[in-house]
Amino acid sequence: MSKHISRRDFLRGTAAGALGLAAASMIGCAQEPATTTAPPTTAAPTTAAPAPAGIYTAGTYSATVKGYSSYITVEMNFSAEAITGCSINAAGETPAIGGVAAEEIAALVVQNQTVDVTTGTSAAITVPAIKKAISNCIAQAQGKAVAINENSGAADDSDWLGTAPEINDALIASVQDTDLLIIGAGNGGMMAAATAADAGMKFILCEQNTVMGDARHWIGAIDTKAMAAANVTVQKDRVLNELARYASYKCDMDVIKMWMNNSAEMLDYLESLGFRNSVHIAPESHVGGNNMEYYVPSIWHTADLPEGTEAKDRHQFLEQYIQKKGYGVQYSMTLVRLVQDDAGKVTGAIFTNEKGEFVKINAKNVILATGGYPGNPKMIKALAPIITECVTANSYFAPDTGMGIRAGIWAGAKMDTEPAPMIFDRGIVAPGVKAGYVDDGNGNLVWPGTVSQDMLGTQPHLKVNKEGYRFANESCPYDFLNYAASLQTDGVYAAIVDSNITEDIIEYDQYGCAQIAVNMAQVGYILPMLEGNVANGLAFKADTIEDLAKQMGLPVDTLTATVKRYNDLAAKGVDEDFGKEAYRMKALDTAPYYGYFMGGSLLTTCDGLRINRKCQVYDTKHKVIEGLYCVGDCSGSFFAGNYPEYFVGVAVGRTMTQGRYAVKAILGEEF
Ligand SMILES: Cc1cc2nc3c(=O)[nH]c(=O)nc-3n(C[C@H](O)[C@H](O)[C@H](O)COP(=O)(O)OP(=O)(O)OC[C@H]3O[C@@H](n4cnc5c(N)ncnc54)[C@H](O)[C@@H]3O)c2cc1C
Repeated sequence: MSKHISRRDFLRGTAAGALGLAAASMIGCAQEPATTTAPPTTAAPTTAAPAPAGIYTAGTYSATVKGYSSYITVEMNFSAEAITGCSINAAGETPAIGGVAAEEIAALVVQNQTVDVTTGTSAAITVPAIKKAISNCIAQAQGKAVAINENSGAADDSDWLGTAPEINDALIASVQDTDLLIIGAGNGGMMAAATAADAGMKFILCEQNTVMGDARHWIGAIDTKAMAAANVTVQKDRVLNELARYASYKCDMDVIKMWMNNSAEMLDYLESLGFRNSVHIAPESHVGGNNMEYYVPSIWHTADLPEGTEAKDRHQFLEQYIQKKGYGVQYSMTLVRLVQDDAGKVTGAIFTNEKGEFVKINAKNVILATGGYPGNPKMIKALAPIITECVTANSYFAPDTGMGIRAGIWAGAKMDTEPAPMIFDRGIVAPGVKAGYVDDGNGNLVWPGTVSQDMLGTQPHLKVNKEGYRFANESCPYDFLNYAASLQTDGVYAAIVDSNITEDIIEYDQYGCAQIAVNMAQVGYILPMLEGNVANGLAFKADTIEDLAKQMGLPVDTLTATVKRYNDLAAKGVDEDFGKEAYRMKALDTAPYYGYFMGGSLLTTCDGLRINRKCQVYDTKHKVIEGLYCVGDCSGSFFAGNYPEYFVGVAVGRTMTQGRYAVKAILGEEF
């Protein structure tokens, strides 16, 4: 049990933040680059027979595959005897990593006449993807394969959904049979796999990348042993109704209840594998506004890895666990589409493998666990346009591009009608930067922010719009201020603080990962961080509010008046303007003053295919699609309009619970 984040958590959080910072510059974009040469997936098999004397049929072949943050197109030229040219369009990958690898590989493949080349860069996702495309081009030139295009299905730029690629059996290089097919080895998929392994099921787990994504360790669960040990309870009826209210009832309360009632068993299961669970108790003071009383239940758990394990995280631990039971992850398997029988039952799926071949897996049941669509600008623009009006930065796992959702809809599934973005108000930006995508110069849509998450965000300081006016109660769930800012100029706002910021943050006593800033304040990191931002041009420092306003390009008179009004209300102890709690109204009276502009940072999307409590996917007539299950961020029915951050860890809590219970449902267990 711990009230505050432990130092270990803090360091982990900071490390994550540092990684995030690195990722900010790494994640160049998450969209398809211009692909002028790629034939459609439905292209007919290569027709010309290989030249008898040569190895290849001379010509030009191309393949398009999913990289880290974009689609990559490889175009190769062959004579009858040799690879004569290779060009790789990886313009949407991180230039310093994937971009460098692409250039190196293009040269090495021609030089060595093989795909088996070694590069000096460590692009763990981009390099295998490029090699997949090269293998496919070589196989095409050998008359052994057809061109793959993992970016197929959408007719044009405005079409995020497209239609399922037609891949007839003649194009399938190999077929596997199983009882259960789990697609996506992430937070939901790994939990499903461990549960299926325990039951001795015949199953296959496919993952598009050659490495796993991140295991999230703040897990929302109810009535756990850790809570009992800490003597903490939550009001389940209140949890249910508060979550439903966040979603404006555009949710299925039965689906929420399934998580509420089974998340403890899911965490107990981890404990039975040796994980050490603890709960973080919510500060009682945290109510979010006068008489407003947001419910902030103590559902936030941490599941620390078992002592002595060499696994670096939960995903790796669970992978080793299933391996001990004779299972494994099939990597480099990218879902292309689902397969159905004449009655509409889902009977498997088609993938591309590491050689760039089509593989069909027949299965009695399929679980989609492919995450949300944060890395797909077309889907974001079409399905969640609010994101483009208030987000400035990227914190997401770029390879999650909504493929499972699209494949599910192609199979007849119904998707939530309302987006549920997970946005944290931490996308610090320089003055003049607006919310929304920008073009990176290569035709890729990227976010303008250079920092993925700045922990000074999510603190309820005074915040003003570009006209210098306060526009909302700053004490609210992380994304609410970003949503409010979407109705203001440029979708961003300025935070104004004074030199008491460290003490203020400690007193604000934020919960969830905003508590990282509280812990940073406790060890004196806030002012150095702020000064670092000043040095980087992302924050401003002045001895007077007037000077600060001038530096930030804010109207001097208005900001001065706004600060005076704020200070008066703080002295009065009542926020007559927006109803913020008195203890979070801190007068700005101690120079130097600081200011910085903030937008939102996108973490993921939590709307997806409509499901029932057993995670079975509904079709557009609200009938279950036989054989199809969906868990985690690619599933819907749970959130709408927002992600309720005061329910700390509910995203991955529901994901892992669903992963486990989808398998139990398939096994016929009652719950
Ligand atoms: C920085 C960050 C921190 C977060 N921290 C927390 C936290 O502490 N607590 C919390 O509750 N939530 C957290 N979240 C949110 C959480 O990660 C998600 O809500 C969710 O739980 C992810 O689980 P998932 O299994 O749905 O998706 P993922 O874990 O992303 O797994 C999806 C998997 O499917 C694979 N895949 C995608 N497309 C294909 C395809 N076509 N073919 C094959 N495989 C495919 C992906 O490569 C990936 O491995 C965080 C998110 C971010 C970005």
